This record gives sequence, structure tokens and C-alpha cells, in this order.
Amino acid sequence: MQNVTILGSTGTIGQQTLDVIARHASEYKVYALTANSNVDALLKQCIEYKPEIAVLLDEKTAQELREKLKNQSSVTQVLTGMNGLEQVSSDDKVDIVMAAIVGAAGLKPAMAAANAGKRILLANKETLVMAGNLFMQAVKAGGATLLPIDSEHNAIFQVMPPQQLQHLADGGVRKIILTASGGPFRTFTQQQLEHITPEFALKHPNWVMGAKITIDSATLMNKGLEVIEAHWLFNAKPSQIEVVVHPQSIIHSMVEYVDGSILAQLGNPDMRTPIAYGLGYPNRIESGVSALNLLEIAKLEFEAPDVKRFPCLQLAYDALNIGGTAPAILNAVNELAVAAFLNKQIRFLDISILIAKALNSIKVAPVTSLEQLIAADTEARGFAQSCLANLDSKRLLIA
Ligand code: NAD
Ligand code: MG
Repeated sequence: MQNVTILGSTGTIGQQTLDVIARHASEYKVYALTANSNVDALLKQCIEYKPEIAVLLDEKTAQELREKLKNQSSVTQVLTGMNGLEQVSSDDKVDIVMAAIVGAAGLKPAMAAANAGKRILLANKETLVMAGNLFMQAVKAGGATLLPIDSEHNAIFQVMPPQQLQHLADGGVRKIILTASGGPFRTFTQQQLEHITPEFALKHPNWVMGAKITIDSATLMNKGLEVIEAHWLFNAKPSQIEVVVHPQSIIHSMVEYVDGSILAQLGNPDMRTPIAYGLGYPNRIESGVSALNLLEIAKLEFEAPDVKRFPCLQLAYDALNIGGTAPAILNAVNELAVAAFLNKQIRFLDISILIAKALNSIKVAPVTSLEQLIAADTEARGFAQSCLANLDSKRLLIA
């Protein structure tokens, strides 16, 4: 029996993880569940999965959950804040940590799991974008097992034997090909992109995802973050990572070898496949995902991404090439820009404008410590907030 902590259990990935675990109740036990502030969703999960510990961010909501759990005669203990998240990520009793918090908030608990040598199922790509170098070092030093859950990276992991991961050239790998759905606005003209509403952008054609990653998919920042993620996971140079738009999202990514072979992983776009792969590795377990019907799909298409219409992808490559704290700055400003777009404070196209402005204005430094990265994240957020507080320029005003 393996004990599992699910960070961000009320989110899309968190819920899908519980769905897979429920199919294998004799092999996996839910040890801890965590959420930002949704008391009722976490309560419901606690009643169903009976974890030893639940974590909420602040004391007020935690107290509310404690009372509600008591009324239901539940013995689940409720912890709070970052300390609580770090505790359930590193506790001796825990075997597997699903890191599925969204955004920079997921970094510290993921680091705690790495330092404690856990099997980490990493969905929170922002951890690698912000602190790839430090995180990979912590995984190694802590003796942790890192399994990528992001579907593209999971696909690459599946078609590239793990012993080759640190030596692409030795393994005969020429390049990694990340597939991108292209998002809901793939065929939109520049002019059409100017009038996109959050409601419209939240409708992704292929995947069911949380709000932030859905907007990231629409701007192609998601693919940009994934380029940075692939760089750290697979020790690949930026020039070895190519993005190809594949609107059907059936091929989840590919690896090209020097002999001309391209290996791909295919499946229906359902995150329970990579989640089950991570839970069962090196074995395969049932995920609940239906089999791919190739005849029904019939056609797979590919096209080049357009970084003119979707500059976020290029900005991510730029940040990766600049190095140091640049990806952390990109990530922090993107989080704020996406939130501002969802609040109708800025337009869709302003997201990339704000990020470019931050990358051009904030001083980048080599990464020396986690504290320094968190300070860089804070500085970048401060910069973005001051831009958002002064929406006087026409470019940064919602139409
Ligand atoms: P989501 O918004 O649906 O869920 C986020 C979870 O994190 C929720 O449980 C929420 O309560 C928690 N959370 C949010 N802010 C928090 C904070 N400040 N402190 C503590 N907890 C907090 O997001 P999601 O779609 O499940 O995505 C989660 C992560 O997985 C993201 O990093 C995303 O990029 C990555 N990912 C998601 C998908 C997908 O299909 N949804 C695919 C690949 C990667
Ligand atoms: Mg992905």
C-alpha cells in the first residue's frame, strides 16, 4: 500500500488523480489532500477518501473545515499554510506526492518532496520554470524519483528510456518535438485576437483544465513554459526543443533519433493517462481512459506555430536563452497578467506586452538560491502590479 499526498486536490489534476486512485483502492491510500480555500470541495473529498491530513492556506478556512469535519465524525487533521503543505510533502509516511498546485505557490512544497526523496508526480510546471536547476539538484540530492505528468513530458518520458535522460546525444536523440493544440484561437487573425473575452478564452477545444493553464494554452505561453520544463527535465538545449502545432492533441509529443526514427506517444487527450503512468511506474495500470479509435480520428495534422500572433511562445524561448532569473520573471508576470485578463483589467494581447516589458526592464541575475528566486518572483510581481495600477498607456487598457 502506497501513501499518496495530493497537493491541489480540488483542482482539475487533483480530481483526476483521485479518480485514478479510486480505481486502485487496494494499492494506493490517500494520506493528505490540500486546497487553496475551497472548504466545501475539500470537505467532500475528506469524507470520501478519509485522508489523515487536510491542508488549507489560511487559519480561518481551516477552522471552518475542522468544525465541519467534526460534525461528520471525521478524524482528519487540518493543517494550514506553507508549513502544512511542506509537512505533507515530506512526511515519512508519504511515498508519492502529486504536485498539482497551480503557479508559483507549488514551488516550495515540490522542493520539500524532492528534498525528502519522494516519488514526485510533477504537474506543477511552474516549479521547473522558476527553479529548474535547483529543483533538479534537489531531486538528485534527495534521491527522489521524478515523473513528469504534463502530457507532453510524460509522452517524452515514455518514448525515451530514463537512462538516456541526462545524455540526449549518447542516447542518439536529435531533438524533442513538443506538440501543441494551438489553443482555441489557432486560426484567428491578429485583429480577431484583439477582441477576445475571458469567457471565450476559457473554452479549450481538447483539454479540461484549470483557468490559468487554459489561458496559457490560448496564448501559447503554456507551450513556452513547457519548452523550459523540457529543458530541465531532459537536459535539452533550447535548440533541441521544437514546437509543432497538432490540433487534434492525439500525439502528445515525440522524440527524434539520429537514425531518422521518430517515436511518439498517442492517446485520447485525458490527463488520467499520464497520472496513471506516474502512479504505476514502471508498471502500467488502468486509468479509466477510453481506447483511442484511430479510424474515428482518421486524420492527424501538423503546422508551425506562429510566434507573431502568439508572442508568448517566443518570450519563453527568450527567457530560457537569457537564463538566470529570467524564466522566474516570465512566470511571475505571466501569472499576474493572466489574472488581470481574467478580471477584464487588460486585453488578451496585453498579456505578452506586459511580459515583454518586464523582461526588458527587470535586471536578471544568475540563480544562487531558492530565497533569491522567490525574491525575483516578488520583484517581478511588484513590477507587473505597478504597470497594472497605471493603465494609462492605450496598449494596456481594455478596449
Ligand atoms: P486548477 O486551477 O484546476 O487547480 C489548482 C489547485 O491548486 C486547486 O486545488 C487549488 O485549490 C490549489 N491552489 C491554487 N492556488 C493555491 C495556493 N496559492 N496555495 C495552495 N494551493 C493552491 O489547476 P489544474 O488545471 O489542476 O493545474 C494544476 C497544475 O498542473 C498547474 O501547474 C498546471 O499547469 C499543471 N497541468 C495541468 C494540466 C491539466 O490538464 N489541467 C495539464 C498539465 C499540467
Ligand atoms: Mg501540457
